[in-house]
Amino acid sequence: MVKSKNHIRPPWCCDGKKCVFTDYARLSETKEAIFVNNPETGTIGVIGLGNMGMGMVRTLLRDGFSVVGFDLSADRQTEAATAGATIVASLPELFEACKTIILSLPTANHVRTVLTGDDGLVARDLDARLVIDTTTSEPDVTRDIDATLRRLGHILIDAPVSGGPAGANSGQLTMMVGGDDADVARAMPVLASLGGKITHVGPVGAGHAVKIVNNMLVASHLLTMSEAVRLGNAAGVTTENLISALNAGSGRSAISEVNYPKWVMNGAFDSGFTMGLMRKDMRLAMALAKDKDVALPVSALAGQIWGKSSDLLADDADFNRITECDPTHAGAKS
Ligand code: NAD
Repeated sequence: MVKSKNHIRPPWCCDGKKCVFTDYARLSETKEAIFVNNPETGTIGVIGLGNMGMGMVRTLLRDGFSVVGFDLSADRQTEAATAGATIVASLPELFEACKTIILSLPTANHVRTVLTGDDGLVARDLDARLVIDTTTSEPDVTRDIDATLRRLGHILIDAPVSGGPAGANSGQLTMMVGGDDADVARAMPVLASLGGKITHVGPVGAGHAVKIVNNMLVASHLLTMSEAVRLGNAAGVTTENLISALNAGSGRSAISEVNYPKWVMNGAFDSGFTMGLMRKDMRLAMALAKDKDVALPVSALAGQIWGKSSDLLADDADFNRITECDPTHAGAKS
């Protein structure tokens, strides 16, 4: 056990109340005996071995869990096997082998296929499985799948994440968790391995709702920050000086504190999160607002700009590239 996180309370103390867990202690020897060596939680299946799933695999392995992985991509399978995971050739094999299963898939449709399709969990006659869906997905789809799984005795919690591949690799993801209290408590050993800040935000689906709201803000902040930089530059201030001052002031955000220094100002654009995924998240936010009949005039404009950005930036481009578009031209490069 090598994890070092400052201790506030033991990760498995979700005592039936809504709770916020932050800063975990080293995973203790006791926990190793209870969870890592427990057949129920000792072997974790990970479906989706992409930028995020691979990082989760590495973290789980480092924390002493056995990992069984599945991905459609042969390259991803090879990478996970090299890291120490056991790769299976099909979804049914993974569902047979693992009582706890993590999903890290592109969209809600992929989650639905993997869980309820022909090769899915629901097509197998298995005893209770715990499914932790870290995909940025759709709350209503999650609730629908939950109802189906629950009828068969399985448990679903949604635990979408923030923190990117770096957070996944280091076990320092921010997790927004939806699920029944008892189910979240059951998942907590695995969540504690992956997450640095874990917030239980409500019943199943609530985690996915919070994640959509979070990413709507990130997408909007990227646009407003790029406007702020253009205005500052036009008024004679360098980007470096502007960002330094903003980060000491009340105009700061994760975009000014992290994204600009780490991925924008140095031209690196290698965050591991793509335009395609962020466009998906903005589409989900706009659809959620429409479905719930909530007017979001400012965010709706940001949603239009992100939508139009596909004219200029490919799906696999880094999402921070949006700062190179001029919002006043709705996607045209400045
Ligand atoms: P990714 O595209 O790198 O990985 C997704 C993986 O899923 C791919 O390797 C793909 O082959 C695999 N896959 C697709 N369908 C499959 C199926 N039916 N069975 C098995 N594997 C399948 O995406 P990512 O960046 O790792 O993101 C995964 C999820 O996490 C997305 O929902 C994303 O929105 C979310 N997310 C990503 C980041 C980030 O910084 N990359 C941050 C937070 C949340």
